[in-house]
Amino acid sequence: MIGAGPGNPELLTLLAQRRLAEADVIVYDRLVNPALLAPYAAEKIDVGKLPHHHKVSQYQINDMLVELAQSGKRVARLKAGDPYVFGRGGEEGQYLKQHHVAFEVVPGLTSAIAGLAAAGIPITHRDYASSFHVITGHRKAEGKELDWANIAHQEGTLVFLMGMEQLATIADQLMVNGMSATTPVAVIQWATHWKQRSVSADLATIVDVVTAAKIGAPALIVVGGVVKLMPELQPQLALQGLHLLIPFKAESKLFAALQDEGASVNYFDRRKKQPRAVALPDMAAGGTLVITDFAAFHYFQQQLLTLGVDGRSLNHWQLVAMNQVVANRLQETGLLADALYDEQQLDLTQPVVYLGEQAALAQLNGPATAQYLATYERIAVPQSVDLADFHAVVFPSSASVNDLYAGCDEAQRAQLQTMTCFAMGQTVADECQKLGLHAIVAAPSYDDVIQAVKKEFSTDESNRVTGR
Ligand code: SAH
Repeated sequence: MIGAGPGNPELLTLLAQRRLAEADVIVYDRLVNPALLAPYAAEKIDVGKLPHHHKVSQYQINDMLVELAQSGKRVARLKAGDPYVFGRGGEEGQYLKQHHVAFEVVPGLTSAIAGLAAAGIPITHRDYASSFHVITGHRKAEGKELDWANIAHQEGTLVFLMGMEQLATIADQLMVNGMSATTPVAVIQWATHWKQRSVSADLATIVDVVTAAKIGAPALIVVGGVVKLMPELQPQLALQGLHLLIPFKAESKLFAALQDEGASVNYFDRRKKQPRAVALPDMAAGGTLVITDFAAFHYFQQQLLTLGVDGRSLNHWQLVAMNQVVANRLQETGLLADALYDEQQLDLTQPVVYLGEQAALAQLNGPATAQYLATYERIAVPQSVDLADFHAVVFPSSASVNDLYAGCDEAQRAQLQTMTCFAMGQTVADECQKLGLHAIVAAPSYDDVIQAVKKEFSTDESNRVTGR
């Protein structure tokens, strides 16, 4: 049972990360940020519950966990915040115990504390609160009333979870039971997610303010003097609230740089390289090997190795690198290219073998007498992200443009064409244009991309539109 933290994927614990990477299946709730699941290969099951509309009942979830575990799978039960703060983590634990399923609890940052900080509210402060109380606002629905007289007389900060439907009742009960109508109140929706919003008012006015701002669940209701610190302590980052899509993992420096400016970043999956079995040439015969990209050479060598043939078999071959990048990669593995590619210079009296990716080789117009070995192919990964949730896409390379496009269906492609894109370099922008995407060109460095993003999206969040 794993706590996912309040939403921002970087607020996961190290142990949670490791357990998610080790899991065969991840069973997660509605409040878990999908961006957090992107890096993990496990099967993912959404048992998210919408208020009143129970998608999967708690009984079904319990049984599912037991069945999955008994079938020998490693199950990660991922819950928002901390697993033992509301959200029925304790009940699930009891059920597992009764059914002799061993489990571990991996704590998470609870929204009741971390969610306040994200809006600039310290849950305690020497001037305002020397205790805090985390309370469910949902108790009435379970037929039980809260002890309002007791709650209203606490000196510390009150944090209500699952309380949005009861906001008016909460405010009334606190006032009826003696709390001042001028007590500060804040409501924070989707804390630490890109769509985080917050408002503050006092007990007498909070309902009107929340209604006017159209803030709903999931949200935290915070009552107490600490709310006064919000204007002073609220994080002020240039890209706060901006939601960006970037290619999967590989560009993790860009990920960090954008997050540091306050943006929320999600990945999309790149195309996968899938090795292909090919009929290998007679290595003893010798000839010319044209290496169009390094990965193709790598898979070629892998296949030779499975036949018990190693690098020494290249003795009789002239190595031609498609470009300097390939030559450099070859050199890193201890091989010096004999030449850079020039079709006119090929010795066609000897065998000529091209190594490359399947689609790339098919497009290459080499000599008819040459042999073409596609040692791998790139497979599109269907994109599960909802493009409508993003303000923009950042493309660091032409390949990343093609990879995202290849994995999109027709509707997603149409959507992409209406979105703001940032291309790192003119070549990447040209690639975007070919596919009908509109890209803002930035120089190919992280700093320049960040400057371009900042220039486009001011801190005034009302100027931003997602694809919705
Ligand atoms: N175990 C969770 C709480 C689960 S109860 C935790 O420790 O945070 C679900 C309630 O938590 C929601 O109704 C909402 O009140 C609150 N909540 C969880 N994540 C939130 C977030 N990111 N922003 C605002 N409220 C959140």
